[in-house]
Amino acid sequence: MVPLKQDIFGVRIDSLTRQQAAQAGAALLDQPDFHYAVTPNPEFLLAAEKDPEFRAILNGADLTLPDGIGVIYAARILGRPLQGRVTGIDFAGDMLARLQATGGRLYLLGAKPGVAQLAGENIVRQYPGLVLCGTRDGYFQDPEAVAREIAQAKPDLLFVCLGAPKQEKWIAQWGPLTGARLAIGLGGVLDVYSGQVERAPERFQKLGLEWAYRLWKQPSRIGRMAKLPLVLVKAAKGRVTKGD
Ligand code: UDP
Repeated sequence: MVPLKQDIFGVRIDSLTRQQAAQAGAALLDQPDFHYAVTPNPEFLLAAEKDPEFRAILNGADLTLPDGIGVIYAARILGRPLQGRVTGIDFAGDMLARLQATGGRLYLLGAKPGVAQLAGENIVRQYPGLVLCGTRDGYFQDPEAVAREIAQAKPDLLFVCLGAPKQEKWIAQWGPLTGARLAIGLGGVLDVYSGQVERAPERFQKLGLEWAYRLWKQPSRIGRMAKLPLVLVKAAKGRVTKGD
């Protein structure tokens, strides 16, 4: 299966259903060499425009999944629609299910001290059969030492939750050293799995209003959320300038 990619502000995003993304991820986990997946939201797209290194890392990923509803809307406005939204947390869940089926090994990197361990305990309860081979918080000085420590745990799947673009830059530079088959940049996902941050109820998710729920729960995110309409305005401008 050759996934179709759509260029959204210079970032090539995979146009896949959630099921196709899960299949593609499972195929990567079956191969012995290193791969990585990224989950851009509107903030990523704006940051990547100003940061060529970040953009190249996003474009170098084996899977680039549209996490934010803003990416889906921007793609539609640009006339390059994507098949669907594949959130980082849904993709993470599908990869955990795959690991459970194969008895694979999981390492969790990121978030405040104690959070990854708590998230790991909850994940093991939810997906018994996978092996939690290590956890580490995301506040470290020596990125190479962290990669070497992870390599000793021999993970198949690695969640990297340091916030963007830090997590993608860490993955691109140090990921291959870990020996993992698939690393995924997943932002605040460990905070959710640990139970510290609640995911939006399903009815919000279905309506594409997860961002509104998060804003309601954490009003301090308003500055970051403003990136969503900004991306839509940019997409509309791009479309008008192109004259189609
Ligand atoms: N984080 C980290 N190390 C850092 C900075 C951030 O581990 O140096 C963690 C932070 O504790 C949080 C996650 O990275 O768990 C980023 O969460 P955020 O809500 O920014 O991610 P989003 O899902 O919005 O991209």
